[in-house]
Amino acid sequence: MQILTTTLLTLSTTIAAFAQDPAALSPVPHSNPLLRESAYPLGAIAFDKLEVAHFPSAFDQAMARQKAAVRRITMVRSAPTFENTLVPFERSRVELEQIGSIFSIFTSNLSSDEVRSIQSEYASKLSKHSTDILLDPELFARVRAVHEMLDRANLDAESKRLAQVTFDQFVRAGAALAPEERARVAALTQRESELQTQFGQNDLRDTDAFRLALDAEDLDGLPQGVRDGAAETARQLGMVDKYVFTLQRPNVEDFLTYSSRRDLREKLFKAFTQRGVNGNDFDNRGNITELVALRAERAAILGYASHAAYITADSMARTPEAALDLLQRVWEPALAQAKSERERLRESMSSGGAEHPLEAWDWRYYAEQLRQAEYDLDPAELQPYMQLANIRAAAFYVAGRLFDLTFTERFDIPVYHPDVRVFEVAKRDGGHIGLLYQDDFARPGKRSGAWMSSLRAQSTLDGPVTAHVTNNLNISEPPLGKAATISVTEAETLFHELGHALHGLLSRVQYPSLSGTNVPRDYVEFMAQFMEHYVTQAEVLTQFARHGETGEPMPAALRDRFIAASKFNQGFATVEFLASALVDQMYHALSGDAAVGVEPLAFEAAAMEQLGALDEIPMRHRSTHFNHIFAGGYSAGYYSYLWSEVLDSDGFEAFAETGDIFHPATAKRLEANVYSRGNTVDWMEGYKAFRGRAPAVEPLLKNRGLAAAEESGS
Ligand SMILES: [Zn+2]
Repeated sequence: MQILTTTLLTLSTTIAAFAQDPAALSPVPHSNPLLRESAYPLGAIAFDKLEVAHFPSAFDQAMARQKAAVRRITMVRSAPTFENTLVPFERSRVELEQIGSIFSIFTSNLSSDEVRSIQSEYASKLSKHSTDILLDPELFARVRAVHEMLDRANLDAESKRLAQVTFDQFVRAGAALAPEERARVAALTQRESELQTQFGQNDLRDTDAFRLALDAEDLDGLPQGVRDGAAETARQLGMVDKYVFTLQRPNVEDFLTYSSRRDLREKLFKAFTQRGVNGNDFDNRGNITELVALRAERAAILGYASHAAYITADSMARTPEAALDLLQRVWEPALAQAKSERERLRESMSSGGAEHPLEAWDWRYYAEQLRQAEYDLDPAELQPYMQLANIRAAAFYVAGRLFDLTFTERFDIPVYHPDVRVFEVAKRDGGHIGLLYQDDFARPGKRSGAWMSSLRAQSTLDGPVTAHVTNNLNISEPPLGKAATISVTEAETLFHELGHALHGLLSRVQYPSLSGTNVPRDYVEFMAQFMEHYVTQAEVLTQFARHGETGEPMPAALRDRFIAASKFNQGFATVEFLASALVDQMYHALSGDAAVGVEPLAFEAAAMEQLGALDEIPMRHRSTHFNHIFAGGYSAGYYSYLWSEVLDSDGFEAFAETGDIFHPATAKRLEANVYSRGNTVDWMEGYKAFRGRAPAVEPLLKNRGLAAAEESGS
C-alpha cells in the first residue's frame, strides 16, 4: 500500500539492473506521443499509441528542456523574484515529472526485459539530472535570495509556501554546502539510488525464484477462492492439474491462514522470510550494509544527528523522538495483548489435540481456527457476498456521500491493458474532477502489492489542469465466466487506495509540485487509511455486500459477527508491524562508526532481543526484503502508517461522534482542510482546522483493542 509520487522515487522503487544493450531496444517510432498534446478526451494519455521505446528520447528531450529552462532562469539580469525564479522553475519541472509518472506504469504494471533495461539506464540518469539541478550554485543563489525576502514579499500564502518548500528541497539536497561536501552528498545520493534499485530488483527475482507447486490432495483447509487463484497461477505457468503458490504476500498469508498442512506451511513460511538472504545472486545483505553507512554519512554532512533525524525533519513527526514515542507507546500494550493471544492459541491447540509447539508458521492458522469458532465465521459463507464489482461500487458510494462525487465509467479513453477500467470523477453539481484508472488483477509483469500513482498532477498555474490517477491491486483473476470475489483485507486495500486517489483528485491548488499526494509519508497515509474505516460499517455492508448469485444482502447476523471479528488478533498484527517500524528507526538512528559495517541478520536479531519481541511473531518485513526502507522512499519512515493511523482513527471519530458516518459539515471540513490542500498548508495546522484540535491517540488504541491493556500495563 505504498504510494508512488515523484519521478525519481518511482524509478528507483522498482526494478532495474539488467544487462544494458541499447541495440536490443526497438527502433524509436517516428512521432512520440509523450511529447505531443493528447488528442483524446480530457487530455487522456494516448496509451494505445505509446510504446516503451518512446521513453528514452522523451526523457532525453525533457531533461534537455529543463536544463535549458534553468539556464534561462540563471541568465536573468534583474534581481531574483518569485515571478522570475520560482514560477519558471516550477514550470520547468512539469514535463519530466509527467513522463516519469507515465513510465511508472511500464515499470510497475507492464514490466519486461526492455522496460527493465531502460529503467536501469534512466534511474541513474534521472537521479543525476535532479541532483545537478538541485546543486546548481547559480540557481540556488536565486532561490535563496527569494527565500530571504519572503517575509516582506507581497505574495499569497500558497506562493510563500512554494518558495519555502522549494528552498528546503535545495538545502536538503546539499545546495547550501561547500563545494567538496556538495559533491560528496551528490555522489552518496547517486549511489543510494543505484543500491535501492538493486535491492528492489533482487527482491523481485528472489521472490520469483521460489514456487510451491501442489497437487489437489495437498490443499486441505484452503477455501475455494484460494484454490482457484492457485490453479490460475499454475495455468499461467503452463502447469496442468497443479496448484501454484508464490511468495507474493497475499498468497502466503492465505496459505498460512487456511492450510491445515503444517509441513507445507513451514516450507512456504521459511521461503518467504528467507528472501534476500539465500546466498545467491539476489542476496541483499551487502546492499543494506552499504545503504545504512551512506545514509548516516550523508546525514552527518548535512548537519543531522542521523538519517532518521534528516528524514523526520521533513515530516509531520519532525523528530525521531516523536516517532519513537508513538511506536513505544503502542508497543507495550500491543506486546501484552499478543502474549495473551498466544496463551489462548496454546490453550485451544492443546484442547484440539495438537502435539507441537506454536511456531511462527502456525500462528495465523490457529488464530483463524479460533476466530471462526468464537465468531462462528466461515470464510466460505462470507465470500459470495464480497463481489469485487459491488465492493468497488461501495467505495465509490462512500466517496460520493462524503465528497459529493460521481464515478462514471468511460469507454473512449485508451488503456494500457485490457484489465484496466477508466472512471471519470465529477462533482454531483457537474464539475469535472479528473480520471481514475483502476487496474485490479494480478498478472505477470505487474509488481506485487497495491498502490496509487499520479499520472497528471492537478494545478491552476497555467489554467485548470485536473488530476489523472491510477489505483492498482493484485486480486487473483477469477476463472473464466465467474465474477471476482475478494477477501476482507482486499476490500480494505481497495478503499485504502481510493483514499489516495481522492487525495490526488480533490486537490485544489495553484502549483503542481504542491498538489495532491505531495506530502510527507506520515501524513499521506491518513487520507488512505481514513477510507478503510468504512468497509466494516453496517450501513455500507447492508447495501453492497450482496450475494453474487441471489443478490440477497448479507444477513444481519453474519454482518454483525463479521464486524465484531474485525478486531480479532490485533495484538499479533500490531506487534508484527511495530517490530518492522522499530527496526527501521534503529538502523537509521545509527551514526559515526556504529553505522559502518552493519551485519543485517545480527543487527535484526539484537534489535528483536532488545525489544523483547516474541519468536512466534517475526517482523512483518525482515530486513533483506524490506522494500519500503531499502528499495523505496520510506527509510526511517515505516512508522508513518501508525502515525497516520492516529490521524485516521481520530478523524473517523469526528464522524462517529456526530452519529452520522457521512456527516456533511464534518466531511466539508475534511475536504476543505485536508483532501484538497495538497502541500499548501502546514500538515498539523490542516488537521487541526478539520478536527478543531490536535489529534488524540486514544481512538487508535481503542480501535486496535489496546486501550484497556495500556491502562493496566502502565
Ligand atoms: Zn497507502
